[in-house]
Amino acid sequence: MKEISDLPIPASSMAGNLWPVVPGQRAAMMLALLFQLEQSQWWAPERLQAAQFRQAAEVLRHARRTVPYYGKKFDHIAWRHGQPLTAEIWSELPLLKREDIQDAGDRLHSRALPKSHGKIGTISTSGSTGKPVKVLTTDLTTAFWSACTLRGYIWRRCDFEAKLVAIRHAPIKKADYPNGGQMHLWGGADGGAVPTGPAALLSIMTPVAQQVEWLARQEATYLITYPSNLEAMLRHCQDKKIRFPTLREVQTMSELLKPSTRELCREVWDVPVTDIYTCQEVGYIALQCPGHQHYHAQSENMIIEVLKGDGSPARAGETGKVVITHLHNFASPLIRYDIGDFAEVGEPCPCGRNLPVLKRIVGRVRGMVTLPNGDQFWPFFSNRKFIEVAPVRQYQIVQKTLDSLEVNLVTDRKLVVKEEDKLRDLIAKRLGHPFAMTFSYFDEIPRGKGGKFEDFKSEL
Ligand SMILES: [Zn+2]
Repeated sequence: MKEISDLPIPASSMAGNLWPVVPGQRAAMMLALLFQLEQSQWWAPERLQAAQFRQAAEVLRHARRTVPYYGKKFDHIAWRHGQPLTAEIWSELPLLKREDIQDAGDRLHSRALPKSHGKIGTISTSGSTGKPVKVLTTDLTTAFWSACTLRGYIWRRCDFEAKLVAIRHAPIKKADYPNGGQMHLWGGADGGAVPTGPAALLSIMTPVAQQVEWLARQEATYLITYPSNLEAMLRHCQDKKIRFPTLREVQTMSELLKPSTRELCREVWDVPVTDIYTCQEVGYIALQCPGHQHYHAQSENMIIEVLKGDGSPARAGETGKVVITHLHNFASPLIRYDIGDFAEVGEPCPCGRNLPVLKRIVGRVRGMVTLPNGDQFWPFFSNRKFIEVAPVRQYQIVQKTLDSLEVNLVTDRKLVVKEEDKLRDLIAKRLGHPFAMTFSYFDEIPRGKGGKFEDFKSEL
């Protein structure tokens, strides 16, 4: 139980009661959830899976009865409520695609949400196609979101009194440079149920030099941002020899984190990077293990399957598509939702937590290059290699057709023909095909919707 004791003590709900504290209702609920998560992470895999199926059966029954989209979809399944749900029955449930959610609209929303699940909210995500995916949330899904956030802080033994700052997508004007938004609580503190130190937020659209200047003024202990932005900040600080004496850790999210970015962060700021794997419409999928660089599935919040091309589960060392079932969303149940990511399954973790291991998140479908012979794979480029050839600050490669690429660059100066030729060779060698390439130069390569940045994307 040592990790629970690292939680900050909530305020008492009783006059004069200071220790041990009798917390109010919100804080008591959060502590009760964390207490259970602290235990279930060590459960034997069989026990964990049985508990997941017991919970999933409730979601399945509810979806069949009250969600028009699932009514007919599950007709062919022999399972009836009351019978145990098995892996075999589970594997017969059809996958839910992003397009299915878009097409279903509110037919994916429950007609009879239990009142106890509280207020309904909406998450709308803009996909690569621009057509949004709309998913409902409830107080119950939000409680699990907070619990997983807090679990991440606890795993990493964060100092809850310190200052945490985030540089990310912020649709509010209050997060603009030069001040950014100043808050008195960290995200996930469940509206104050769990006390924390202050937090601050800066919009990801702020130029990197201004981000660095802003961060220096915050005297922050923790920084949260996207991997591509961290990389840009580190490059800037490397040139100017800027360090942040109070900074203890960086947390990244939303995009793929390259091992080279972790190394660069050690080198330039001398702090570790911890990555979390989330998906906007479902929340926390996996948190980085506190002792290793791989990820632990958040099995209490969702069933995470990694499926190979033939639909069978990937084993350790194999890669497959990530399929998610939210165990607590009764407002718009997501059952076997193919979120469009690929991941590699890992071996059981020596830390002793039995939450399944994802060794690495490989990428999204649109991050794959397709060769004229039909081969597909996720390309990996090293920034260092680019810099060895030419003064490249930032790059983005877009596959336009089967044999042509567009290479967008931010450089310190205009490149000479010889440098462009060397880059062309480097990229062709990496991809294993002599693509036709056109080079374009930018002051800054614009981020996609939601502030995300992809260094390779396919428009095929
Ligand atoms: Zn572990």
